[in-house]
Amino acid sequence: MSWLTEYVRPKIRTLFTRREVPDNLWHQCPNCQQMIFHTELAKSQKVCGNCGFHMRATAADRLSWTLDEGYSRIELPKAPADPLRFRDQKRYADRLREAREATTLEDALAVAHGTIDGHRAVVAAMAFEFMAGSMGAAVGEGIVAAARLAVLQDAPLVLYTTSGGARMQEGAISLMQMPRTVIATRLVKEAGLPFLVVLTDPTTGGVTASFAMLGDIQIAEPGALIGFAGARVIEQTVREKLPDGFQRAEYLLAHGILDMVVPRVEMKATLARLIGLLRDPFVDETPPMRLAAPDPVAPPPVETVQAPG
Ligand SMILES: [Zn+2]
Repeated sequence: MSWLTEYVRPKIRTLFTRREVPDNLWHQCPNCQQMIFHTELAKSQKVCGNCGFHMRATAADRLSWTLDEGYSRIELPKAPADPLRFRDQKRYADRLREAREATTLEDALAVAHGTIDGHRAVVAAMAFEFMAGSMGAAVGEGIVAAARLAVLQDAPLVLYTTSGGARMQEGAISLMQMPRTVIATRLVKEAGLPFLVVLTDPTTGGVTASFAMLGDIQIAEPGALIGFAGARVIEQTVREKLPDGFQRAEYLLAHGILDMVVPRVEMKATLARLIGLLRDPFVDETPPMRLAAPDPVAPPPVETVQAPG
């Protein structure tokens, strides 16, 4: 034992051993590689301050960014678990259990009701963090429940989509959710309520082919990938080089598939404005625009001619 081993070595060791520093204090932007401090990222709603890249967000993020404080999440109906007893590299039941533990969600959807800048609304948000937002029976049930809640509360339905497509592990049952969710959107429309869809990165497959494209107003986040089949599959099928930006929000806006591309920080205010316009178009002080033609001048009385007796 010497001064070196007793004093210097432990001192050096403390200099190099990792302290209890959480490793999630910094995030790297996947687009420009800039390191962003986590509090900055929370403030900017997971948008890179350097390049404006919109990072993926969780369903819980969507609800808290969209709804005013004091909103309530609803419990979604239970769907039959693993109806096909499916197994690939892992059992489907195990995949579900792991996803539930990792996300604290029951399935790839969260639904809440509350207000958006004072306007009542039901908001449903798909969760990419839960098995890539794939749509199985539980998501279908959840969309139907959200639509029914909107009708019951006489409130518009706002739906954030993100999905890798149908849930393979549920086979044909996952495909049946396409017509089911379409019927759910009809319930909202038949009740005369606005149905607003916000497409986020990525929205693909069976979700794009069903309820995600049926909004009264189709909104997307900048740069979001939105499509049915993957670009490579399409390229191989049509044997043509696809244009730059194909299946991205801006391309779809330019080609008439979308109505608006709205940056995330402006999303809440935009949704509130749209709901206001659609539900109470004449609440402001200015007199409503006159759409009907002015009353026509009364026609001159037709002279009645006495028929000769
Ligand atoms: Zn960036």
